[in-house]
Amino acid sequence: MSYPSPIAIDGPAAAGKGTLAKKLGKHLNFASLDTGALYRGVALLVLQAENNPTDPQKSLEAAQKLNIDAIDHTAIRSAEVGQAAADVAVHQDVRTCILELQRNFAASPPAGKDGAILDGRDIGTFVCPDAPVKLFVTASPEIRAHRRWLELSVTDPALKEADILAAVIARDKKDMERAIAPLRPAEDAHLLDTSDLGIENAFEAALKLITSIGS
Ligand code: C5P
Repeated sequence: MSYPSPIAIDGPAAAGKGTLAKKLGKHLNFASLDTGALYRGVALLVLQAENNPTDPQKSLEAAQKLNIDAIDHTAIRSAEVGQAAADVAVHQDVRTCILELQRNFAASPPAGKDGAILDGRDIGTFVCPDAPVKLFVTASPEIRAHRRWLELSVTDPALKEADILAAVIARDKKDMERAIAPLRPAEDAHLLDTSDLGIENAFEAALKLITSIGS
C-alpha cells in the first residue's frame, strides 16, 4: 500500500502533534520535519547574538544563517526560546526564508523515505495547501500546559505549571492573531482533540484516516 504524501499536521503548542508526527513517520517510513524547531532555531540564534526577536532585520539575518543540521535540539526547547520563536515567526521575511526549505522537504523527502510529514502552525493552510492529508491536533490549554510542565520540569524543577499555562495562552494568542499565516485549521483539515486521548489512541485515529485516503 502506498500512503499519501505530504501529511500536514498543525495545532497549538504542546497539543501532541510532534509526538504524533514522529510515530506516524516511523510507522509509514516517512521523514518528519518539526517546523517549529526551525523557528526556534532562528530564535536561539537571535538570542545568542543578544538581539531582540521582535527586530525583523536581525531575525532575518539569523534565518539566513540557520543550518538545519546544526540546530541545538536541547537548547531550543526552553520556554524562553519558545516565546522568542513566536516573535520571530511574525516577520514575513523570516517566514519566506523558511518556506522554501519546508516545501523542498515536502516535495523531496530524504532518500529512502516514502513520503514526508510536516508539523507546525501553517502547514495545511500555507506551506502545503494541497497536502492530501491534513490534521489539526488540539487539546485544552490546561492539558497542554501540564504536558509541557512535565517535559520541562525535569531540567527545571522550579518551573510553575501556572506560569506555563499563562505562557501557552499568550503564545496561542500571538500565533492565532498574527497577520501572516496565523494558526487556524485548514478548511479540509480533520480535527483531532487529544485532551482525552493518549498518544496510542491519537496515533490509531490518524492512521485510520491516512489509510482511508491511501491506495
Ligand atoms: O511548535 P513549536 O512550539 O516548537 O513552535 C514554536 C513557534 O514557532 C510557534 O509558537 C509559532 O509561533 C512558530 N511556528 C510557526 N509556524 C510553524 C511552526 C512554528 O509560526 N509552521
